[in-house]
Amino acid sequence: MSAVKMAANCIFCRIIKGEIPSMKLYESDKTFAFLDINPLSHGHALVIPKYHGEKLTDIPDEHLAELLPIASRIAKAAGAENFNILQNNGRIAHQVVDHVHVHMIPKPNEQEGLGVGWPMK
Ligand code: ADP
Repeated sequence: MSAVKMAANCIFCRIIKGEIPSMKLYESDKTFAFLDINPLSHGHALVIPKYHGEKLTDIPDEHLAELLPIASRIAKAAGAENFNILQNNGRIAHQVVDHVHVHMIPKPNEQEGLGVGWPMK
């Protein structure tokens, strides 16, 4: 099993370590989830491996295994019936932060209202 790997100058590694504040939603030994600072919709969340790597292809399988299940649990906890899961790799594919992250972006309709269930237990 590969140990957790951190990069000193990575903003998401610094969030995991608590050096930069975040709205934490979930944490395990391998995975961390928090609200996006510039949300595309209410409840926009990011799920990241604690193992630092720029792209999906840089991360060992065991550190990827929880990302989708946790994104799914967060979507459920948020009451999001409509949502997008997005994961960008490389500048041409619109990746800005060079630490693998899965976006969970709710698509609320005006009647529904979101935000139920935060923070996730
Ligand atoms: P894009 O901006 O094209 O979605 P990424 O897929 O790399 O690029 O997404 C990076 C995400 O990280 C953005 O949605 C951005 O708002 C978010 N982000 C950047 N810094 C922070 C931070 N300190 N706390 C929470 N979210 C952050």
